[in-house]
Amino acid sequence: MKYQFLLDEAFKAMKNAYAPYSHYHVGSCVLTKDGKQFIGANIENASFGATNCGERSAIFAAYSHGYRKNDIEAIAIVSDGDKLAGPCGICRQVLSELLNDDTLILLSNGKEEAIKTIDDLLPMRFTQEDLK
Ligand SMILES: [Zn+2]
Repeated sequence: MKYQFLLDEAFKAMKNAYAPYSHYHVGSCVLTKDGKQFIGANIENASFGATNCGERSAIFAAYSHGYRKNDIEAIAIVSDGDKLAGPCGICRQVLSELLNDDTLILLSNGKEEAIKTIDDLLPMRFTQEDLK
């Protein structure tokens, strides 16, 4: 796969996950069009609502460095679950605003892989267009 290197970086980031409660580890890596990479991992909290998912950690890191949706080529999201998992509902909403509709979202658990877009993952989504 063209983006195997991006999945590899996401798996490296997964090792930094802080998941003492779920023991479910997630890593992510955003690739920008100018070749920069921003990693993230899930960071849990005893107050569960304060937990941040791996893909949000990565996309927030990219945005924190000044990158915006038009600068992003792809995002890899990986986990160590038994089945291939997609982003949670909160992350789908966040990614729907912070990625272009056709940005590649690469998923892997080390056994299965899939390539999606936010159009695949969150059809009929609520966006800033609805607020006008
Ligand atoms: Zn999430």
